[in-house]
Amino acid sequence: MKKVLVTGAAGFIGSHLCDKFLAEGYHVIGMDNLITGNMDNIAHLFPLNNFEFYHHDVSKFVHVPGNLDYILHFASPASPIDYLKMPIQTLKVGSLGTHNLLGLAKAKNARILIASTSEVYGDPLEHPQTEEYWGNVNPIGPRGVYDEAKRFQEAITMAYHTYHGLETRIVRIFNTYGPRMRVEDGRVLPAFFSQAIRGEGLTVFGEGDQTRSFCYVDDLVDGIYKLLLSDYAMPVNIGNPSEITIMQFAKEILALVNNPKAHIIYKDLPVDDPKQRQPDITKARNILGWEPKFNREEGLKLTYEYFKTVVQAVD
Ligand code: UDP
Repeated sequence: MKKVLVTGAAGFIGSHLCDKFLAEGYHVIGMDNLITGNMDNIAHLFPLNNFEFYHHDVSKFVHVPGNLDYILHFASPASPIDYLKMPIQTLKVGSLGTHNLLGLAKAKNARILIASTSEVYGDPLEHPQTEEYWGNVNPIGPRGVYDEAKRFQEAITMAYHTYHGLETRIVRIFNTYGPRMRVEDGRVLPAFFSQAIRGEGLTVFGEGDQTRSFCYVDDLVDGIYKLLLSDYAMPVNIGNPSEITIMQFAKEILALVNNPKAHIIYKDLPVDDPKQRQPDITKARNILGWEPKFNREEGLKLTYEYFKTVVQAVD
């Protein structure tokens, strides 16, 4: 049985990856320090014989006994509010944590896939974003702690690949949504769903004319799985190219939840908020034979079912 280590296992994407690899017959070791992760996301896995969990911060030396075939590094605060609150941990997990896991991969002769992000493109001046675009990032702005940690992460991963011949994979993840997103993580979808269900104002930042392209988590996980098993070491964008404005997104969630008390309110646009974002997924299509299967209507319905169970309507 192949063995895979998933860091950030109790997080939104990490927990779905654990599910996927267990379903594919792997032995899964989950690791998380639980600063943003939630044990509820993996509680259903504890009865399984081929699942283990270590409560550990990967920014410190990582020890895993026995052999390892694959490592998936998904530990990091990932919402702008979280990395504003935890700037040093965010920098450390992307840099020191990645270094530790690359060292572990080298020692175990394991293949490692690291979670990079569309944030490496910053506030992009090219649209849509291809993997060849180098980005437009403010290193000392509030988002710099995440963006630059992830850029360093890509650099050190490529260095291990070229210098040590390590088998590495880099996925650049665009906005992803689905069940198990943390209600209070501050990202747009949990914010809008919880506000709509509670009958509050949906907090549109700025005029709401900035754009994003939202990918359903099952599609992302499928793309990551295919990338890990491919032989392609350069970065690959995984995301859904269907792009909308944040205002349009708020209106879709208002229509779906259909709470007469919910409405739209405006808040200041955060500093360095990217104005537009859309993945060019030509590479994923050609190299992995991957493309997203869930459209937003289907994905939002499934996600709403989850948010109904974790957010209480206010009378
Ligand atoms: N946003 C918003 N209201 C919120 C949270 C976010 O209008 O309550 C906007 C935010 O300014 C950004 C977009 O939604 O333009 C996506 O924000 P998110 O924090 O989800 O992730 P990002 O793509 O910026 O990393």
